Amino acid sequence: MVHFVGAGPGAKDLITLRGKKLIEEADVIIYAGSLVNPQLLDYARDHCRIHDSKDLNLEEVIAIMRDAEAQGKDTVRLHTGDPSIYGAVREQMDILDDLGIDYDVTPGVSSFCGAASALNMEYTLPGISQSVIITRMDGRTKVPERESVEALASHGATMVFFLSSFDSGRLSERLINAGLSPDTPSAVVYKATWDDEKSFVCSLKDLFETMKANDIKKTALIIVGEAVAQTGYERSKLYDPGFTTEYRMGTDKNAKDGH
Ligand code: SAH
Repeated sequence: MVHFVGAGPGAKDLITLRGKKLIEEADVIIYAGSLVNPQLLDYARDHCRIHDSKDLNLEEVIAIMRDAEAQGKDTVRLHTGDPSIYGAVREQMDILDDLGIDYDVTPGVSSFCGAASALNMEYTLPGISQSVIITRMDGRTKVPERESVEALASHGATMVFFLSSFDSGRLSERLINAGLSPDTPSAVVYKATWDDEKSFVCSLKDLFETMKANDIKKTALIIVGEAVAQTGYERSKLYDPGFTTEYRMGTDKNAKDGH
């Protein structure tokens, strides 16, 4: 069996309990060495065979899974963050389906959640933004036109850019040309939750300079939107003393607390 496991954003203790157990029990681990913290491999058994997928193409990854399966062994395919976000898991699953090899998925903490923790940030501030757009600038992988940076910017929602730090100057230029204010609050989080995590808040027009000054070229997320300022929001209705929920009955002291 193959287990796709989300490794979390970096810190060794931010993998799920289930993910850790699967690593502890694995015979074979294929991990994305460019982004997964190698300290997570400390959880593996001594005889576990470990492969770094950064040196492998898709067919080579599958060949390792297939060999392990033929010997009745369990493989963990360890992906950074959560496997469902830019994880290239579907193409692996499709081949495994063709080969009749069973698999399952264990979610992980995505790096965009790690970035929010680095910034003590809430992405969905009432009165500011109630949506988070997870996206990327096009590079070698094309982005559908309807999801272009310009099209998505028109919503004014909080935007989190993965895989885009290679050209932050162009990103801010495009967002500004699409109508966002050059002063839109923005943030860069490098290696969220790793020991060498760095985070910076700046205005949209200063993204490139901020990243250049701090030598950030990869393993970073760029967050853009008024929510980054973490001010000017409305209090949540859920905890409003005058607002009742199924769990909390107004200001009645005997009622149960909200959840
Ligand atoms: N599945 C992963 C994303 C993989 S795409 C997830 O859920 O987080 C790889 C991109 O994710 C990187 O180029 C970078 O933009 C971002 N990334 C991954 N880990 C990161 C981290 N710890 N800090 C900041 N960005 C990170």
